[in-house]
Amino acid sequence: MQVVKTIPELRALRQKLSGTVGFVPTMGYLHEGHLALVKRARTENSAVIVSIYVNPAQFGAGEDFGAYPRDLNRDLELLEGEGVDVIFVPSDGEMYPPGFSSWVHVEKVTERLEGASRPGHFRGVATVVAKLFNMVAPAKAYFGQKDAQQVVVIKRMVADLNMGIEMVLVPTLRESDGLAIGSRNICLGPEERRAAAILFKALTLARRLGQEGEKDVDRIRRRMISLIEQEPLARIDYVSLADAETLAELDLIDRPALASLAVWIGKTRLIDNMPLE
Ligand code: AMP
Repeated sequence: MQVVKTIPELRALRQKLSGTVGFVPTMGYLHEGHLALVKRARTENSAVIVSIYVNPAQFGAGEDFGAYPRDLNRDLELLEGEGVDVIFVPSDGEMYPPGFSSWVHVEKVTERLEGASRPGHFRGVATVVAKLFNMVAPAKAYFGQKDAQQVVVIKRMVADLNMGIEMVLVPTLRESDGLAIGSRNICLGPEERRAAAILFKALTLARRLGQEGEKDVDRIRRRMISLIEQEPLARIDYVSLADAETLAELDLIDRPALASLAVWIGKTRLIDNMPLE
């Protein structure tokens, strides 16, 4: 396993790799969810490259860029155990040198949900992922269902810009109470951690109502909101029932849909989602 910090070093190592390269972009503070992506990449490729970079461009003013958890040594130990070939850990100066002024802006699917709550977020995500794709030149790239809108946005970018990279979507790994495993979970105090299970409960409620034949989105949303409101530590940012492809809000569940939500638990903003069959 080689750990490199600069783009020339990364390119030099990449050139030596033969066969298919699988790529897993991350912001570090790795957990079982990230490792599920790495394991999947390991089984499907001759070589695996992982990036660890907390991308300032995807955090808004007043968001938690400074407080985002980081522990590089632990991350490297975890990746060593997974048989990763190359780990790329760039600095901000390497990624955004003075004079940097080119951005990737994916329209429409970035305007809703996370894009509406976090203006500029997906411009930062699309730009950093495009840059990493150019550096790594993978055959396949691995992303988590946990960030469902991110997958829709990156798929759109890959198709529109003819990047020719296969996107592999990995299901969300969860704690035993259903909370999606996430780097920000560490920010929750014990009471908040207990309260955070409300996201999964609300999504499960949506799925159950859908399975029982409820098609009216207003009714499903109202039930989800009133369940979440029973949890005093939770504050809703959004609750969405959208077309799984376009992420446009639905009135009726008459096609593959995605229930998704963003909820503040204390000072920590958590997101989660569940496809509705
Ligand atoms: P992040 O470090 O939060 O940017 O996440 C890096 C990748 O890991 C993204 O594709 C995420 O969707 C994915 N990921 C994060 N948490 C989970 C999880 N609990 N299950 C599956 N994938 C995840």
